[in-house]
Amino acid sequence: AEEVVEEEHVTAGEVVEEEQDDDERSFEELGLEARLVRALSKKSIEKPTPIQRVAIPLILEGKDVVARAKTGSGKTLAYLLPVLQKLFADSPSKSNLAPAVFILVPTRELCQQVYSEVTSLIELCRVQLKVVQLRSTMSASDLRTSLAGLPDIVVSTPACVQTCLKNGTLQAKALQESLSVLVLDEADLLLSYGYEDDIKALTAYIPKRCQCLLMSATSRSVGVCCFFFFEVTNCYDLAWLALMPPLTRMLFSAD
Ligand code: ADP
Ligand code: MG
Repeated sequence: AEEVVEEEHVTAGEVVEEEQDDDERSFEELGLEARLVRALSKKSIEKPTPIQRVAIPLILEGKDVVARAKTGSGKTLAYLLPVLQKLFADSPSKSNLAPAVFILVPTRELCQQVYSEVTSLIELCRVQLKVVQLRSTMSASDLRTSLAGLPDIVVSTPACVQTCLKNGTLQAKALQESLSVLVLDEADLLLSYGYEDDIKALTAYIPKRCQCLLMSATSRSVGVCCFFFFEVTNCYDLAWLALMPPLTRMLFSAD
């Protein structure tokens, strides 16, 4: 764990304080509730990494966040922890017809990895949340079965979501009513793998109030929006899009 923290390099951005490196804030101090902190402790995770210290409070506040930090710096938990905390708070109203949270990832391996991470946290926290992963190898009826259980969180590649929208397994209207958080994990890869059209198609169903979180290891290939935020605004590691329309709409509106 120490190595992860040491390796991470957070450069200046409007949100990153000078004293970042001496920041000793704990997960509690970032605003995470006790059961999540205990769950982390059971996984021997005691101290937030720099990107987690910056991203967690902003995501809890409801900001759209673009986070860039190198591979291995803990970006998965940086979004999963606050997103889970929000779901815990909303939980019993199970009337939604579509998932509240979509986590889009570029590869099947990452899909499995994120899925395992989120299910283990949920188990450790002993909450009733349903998580599914959608894989391109699944048949239409498998996809239908997965989504029929009304999952709270879906981890998927963009292509699978697109398939589900096309074949009606996922109702566009329900999605517009339910979706509260969209995560693009490994956004640079997501876009370089040619998923652009699938993501673009999905943006039509993203409600305005949906919180958009974009995690990336690099500032390259993330499209016009991120180029703008990473390079032009000088917010290298994190940019607030609080005053902007949802991130993904921005990402593609410029071309
Ligand atoms: P990234 O997505 O930035 O490449 P990951 O989220 O995959 O990084 O995290 C890399 C590894 O670091 C994982 O094994 C994860 O469990 C671990 N990790 C994440 N946060 C912490 C932390 N605060 N302390 C110790 N280990 C952590
Ligand atoms: Mg990652």
